[in-house]
Amino acid sequence: MENIIIIGSGPAAHTAAIYTSRAKFDPLLFEGLMAGGVAAGGQLTTTTEVENFPGFPNGISGPELMDNIRAQSVKCGTRIKTLTVNRVDLNKKPFKVYTDEGEFAAKALIVATGATAKRLNITGEETFWQRGISACAVCDGALPIYRNKILAVIGGGDTAIEEATHLTKYASKVLLIVRRDVLRASKAMQEKAMTNKKIEMIWNSNVLEAIGDKSLSKIKVLNNKTNQEKIFEVGGLFYAVGHTPNTAFLDNQLKLDEFGYIITKPGTTDTSVCGVFACGDVQDKKYRQAITAAGSGCMAALDAEKYLSEAK
Ligand code: FAD
Ligand code: NAP
Repeated sequence: MENIIIIGSGPAAHTAAIYTSRAKFDPLLFEGLMAGGVAAGGQLTTTTEVENFPGFPNGISGPELMDNIRAQSVKCGTRIKTLTVNRVDLNKKPFKVYTDEGEFAAKALIVATGATAKRLNITGEETFWQRGISACAVCDGALPIYRNKILAVIGGGDTAIEEATHLTKYASKVLLIVRRDVLRASKAMQEKAMTNKKIEMIWNSNVLEAIGDKSLSKIKVLNNKTNQEKIFEVGGLFYAVGHTPNTAFLDNQLKLDEFGYIITKPGTTDTSVCGVFACGDVQDKKYRQAITAAGSGCMAALDAEKYLSEAK
């Protein structure tokens, strides 16, 4: 039987692994095989430059950062299996973890399976992904390719407004493209968008196509009320249409919020099941940054270590 099984492969999972390995708990980590549609290493494997992770004054590519973090985790002693966890049994102890290569048992579990940014699959999306299209304005907005350009954000929720507001620091103008004639966002956030002179609302509209040469330069937008199509010149297109937390495999054995994120006790990584801890984006729909994921991975490790020491 394992002391600790860690499920996931992003900054949260590997930080938890580094800490629990160094504390001699000999963790076993399941990194997934294209779990949630993302390669082992998590969301950062889908991006280019990461400029806000401390320790890299010249930035570092997302895949390279994750390769380094994984190598550090292995060096500390983490045992890694490239398998996706299909389901778990949290009803009795030891907890059970099921994969295509059999079942595993553990005294404690750390869930760090992240979340996947929703995509729209519009024409040109694959071509211009990370070459003008991004799912993270806070991460990518400051990149030189987006400076002093007209940028577009798709979505009408709190994230869309937060991202649009953030982008006004760099953009000449931000188009907020909303598919209905109302915003889903909270009243306070709506007011923020409406009173920001740099944000222009484009109501009742869907983006049909991303157009460009080496990078994105235009988008084709359909007004779904008038059926009129219009081309907008933009230097960037940011998706803010929600994330899907990777929690389906838990089969509701942990308490989740209305969007499917794991609920943790504030200030801790404790979940609704004693001995099961959650960290990173799978329990955080607010901050969603590599460094906050890593920070909560450290918290999960320390919480799990304390739990195991007291359970002895
Ligand atoms: P994730 O990175 O989401 O990784 C979790 C991984 O666990 C999954 O991807 C999958 O591989 C694995 N997994 C899932 N389910 C299972 C399962 N059932 N079994 C086994 N394995 C499983 N943040 C920044 O701080 N700076 C940036 O510049 C930045 N740029 C970004 C650019 C893009 C395009 C995106 C999408 C995000 C960006 N972020 C950035 C956000 C950052 O990537 C996330 O906040 C961070 O990766 C979350 O880490 P995590 O450990 O919670 O999980
Ligand atoms: P969200 O509330 O689910 O909003 C997603 C938005 O994307 C909605 O406006 C939705 O339109 C739109 N959308 C979805 N699919 C689309 C598609 N195919 N084409 C065009 N538009 C599409 O997601 P979120 O904004 O990420 O917020 C998630 C949660 O985090 C919420 O509880 C939110 O309050 C919270 N949050 C809070 C803050 C904050 O308080 N500062 C910041 C960020 C997030 P419809 O409205 O038409 O469905």
